[in-house]
Amino acid sequence: MFTDAFSRYLIDIMPVSLAILIDNQIAYANNAAAILLEVEDTSALIGRPVSDFVHPLDITRSNNRLNRQGREWSNAPQQFRLRSVKHNLRMLLVASLTIEFDGKSAILLVGMDMTAQNEISEQLRISEQNFRRLFDNMQDVYYRTDAKGVVLMVGPGVRTVLGYEPEEIVGKTAESYYPNVADRDALKQTIAREGKVTDFGGQMVRKDGRVIDISISSQAIYDDAGIFAGVEGIYRDVTQRKMLERELQRLATIDTLTCIQNRRAFLENAEQLFKSSQRYDTSITLLMLDLDFFKAINDRYGHLGGDKVLVRFAQTVGQELRESDLFGRIGGEEFCIMLQQATREDALIAAERIRERVQELVFDGPAGELFTLTVSIGVSTNRADDERLGKLLERADKALYQAKRSGRNCVIWED
Ligand code: GH3
Ligand code: MG
Ligand code: MG
Repeated sequence: MFTDAFSRYLIDIMPVSLAILIDNQIAYANNAAAILLEVEDTSALIGRPVSDFVHPLDITRSNNRLNRQGREWSNAPQQFRLRSVKHNLRMLLVASLTIEFDGKSAILLVGMDMTAQNEISEQLRISEQNFRRLFDNMQDVYYRTDAKGVVLMVGPGVRTVLGYEPEEIVGKTAESYYPNVADRDALKQTIAREGKVTDFGGQMVRKDGRVIDISISSQAIYDDAGIFAGVEGIYRDVTQRKMLERELQRLATIDTLTCIQNRRAFLENAEQLFKSSQRYDTSITLLMLDLDFFKAINDRYGHLGGDKVLVRFAQTVGQELRESDLFGRIGGEEFCIMLQQATREDALIAAERIRERVQELVFDGPAGELFTLTVSIGVSTNRADDERLGKLLERADKALYQAKRSGRNCVIWED
């Protein structure tokens, strides 16, 4: 066997390892076997027991196979772990055949190196394991839809976020838990236009009916032909965060003592109203209010006493206003009101009523004595040539100054 030059040449260039065992010792090996086991030359393998190269964990299986081989003609291929002389691990798919070699009964082993394939599948297994762990433990909801929006896959996070079992979601479109169709259309359009969305806000309805705020990050997926195949992404419950944001927003715009708008919020809102009334040529009226002799109240009843007066003043004025009016504290004991679409008559009546209500208030002093409060009000209204809100504020301020000069507790309209 293998005596002619052609057979030897053929066997030596074969990319599969080949060895012949007599009494479980290597009697012949080809080049590929030498390369596999990392020896310089095939001669280094001759005479060595095959067990020198089999991984200890596979040695029993290998021995069994060799024993069986003596009795049976051939065995089906099996994988074995081998160790090269340099102690590198190899995974070999081995087929074997009983033959005659140099007149003796021998076993021909043919081995295909599967190490690379095994490494790849091991890597795949690990990455699949990592993905599963992430997928199963993620607080966010992973989802994937087909091109029509039918959910193909949804993560177990959906149990906590929406209160549904994944099976209840798979196979359906998202319609049933999107309260706002416009929200979903906006999401779809953005994905269609930009290929993805990041932290896209919206709302969903839980199985128990509760509406929650969500944030979605998703991207379009395309098939091999480049045709839109669906959407893949995650969404998360951001209700707490939204509530906090709204609360912070509220806190940033209100005055903590009187709970009406603070200076910044009032001026911002007034600016918007001013701009739109200039554009649409509607009238707005600005009332600037300053409490009379407030220093004296502070002096007599202390700063805390003064604070209580400010709170009650703000409540009283607030009750006289309509929903559409703006009311803010713009300084210590200075307030502003903006009335929308009020005629001069209406505005004057409103201002006068506020002045009267304040005058009618009766406060309890610490020693049981009673005291009252008055307010001076300057009024201005927008003009076609007012290019900014500041103009209106200046005129109201001037009118307020006039009101103080005229003896206080009165309303003065700008001239
Ligand atoms: P006038 O009639 O001319 O307005 O007299 P006034 O005493 O009210 O004088 P002015 O408006 O100049 O004084 C405002 C006072 O309001 C001065 C300040 O100590 C007081 N003040 C400002 N902010 C607060 C506050 O938050 N709480 C209290 N208690 N007092 C304040
Ligand atoms: Mg003042
Ligand atoms: Mg004052």
